[in-house]
Amino acid sequence: MSVVLEIEGLRKTYKSRRRGVRHALDGFDMRVEQGQVHGFLGPNGSGKTTTLRTLLGLIRPNGGRMAILGQEVPAALPAVVGQVGAIVESPQFFPHFTARDTLSLLAGAGEVPQTRVDEVLELVGLRDRAGERVKTYSLGMKQRLAVASALLKNPKLLILDEPANGLDPGGIREMRTLTRDLAASGMTVLLSSHILGEIQLICDSVTIISLGRRVAFGPVDQVLAEHSGGAVRVRL
Ligand code: ATP
Repeated sequence: MSVVLEIEGLRKTYKSRRRGVRHALDGFDMRVEQGQVHGFLGPNGSGKTTTLRTLLGLIRPNGGRMAILGQEVPAALPAVVGQVGAIVESPQFFPHFTARDTLSLLAGAGEVPQTRVDEVLELVGLRDRAGERVKTYSLGMKQRLAVASALLKNPKLLILDEPANGLDPGGIREMRTLTRDLAASGMTVLLSSHILGEIQLICDSVTIISLGRRVAFGPVDQVLAEHSGGAVRVRL
């Protein structure tokens, strides 16, 4: 099975006058194989967002290496940029635009065919509501629209940072189904969460991070059986 994402010895240190030096990532490792929904589990402040933002070239690391689809990043980031779709922050949209107009705008002039806009609307289950303004959308629908925008360029890897945040139980269920459907279509998904139950329900494999270090990884059932309630403390 081919490796879609590889991280070795990643280090990131934040320095602030108030809190001094903080090792957000302290030699962190991760490996994600093709076609998996890979969970990235850790408590608040363990380094998940820092990892994802570093991966996307938004933060400069202090050490270590990362490769996406065999290409070293950030050096080769331009080569893989269309191969990675990501939602790493709460999605912001123009409230008066319809979902279709929003995606058409993001598709740009000619770069992504307009037929792809309808395809991704269908994929995330918003095609019937595509003509409605985004301001009428629930949070769950906005989250699915964000996934649609991340899928426009047909990426090989989809990164979702805490996708269930703020969603009601119905929205969480829809995101879960959508994630599994995407994986069934061959996409690799990296899903960060601090909720053990969410990882257990959606993921094939998992990496657990604590204090900026990998403390466990492997098939989800095996890892969670070995670690939940044990050395690794995660919030349910
Ligand atoms: P959360 O789920 O709360 O976002 P997380 O696992 O994503 O947590 P990070 O946000 O990556 O964790 O934070 C890791 C550590 O780095 C924390 O101790 C955090 O306080 C610190 N940190 C993150 N961003 C900064 C920053 N810009 N400046 C200083 N410290 C930071």
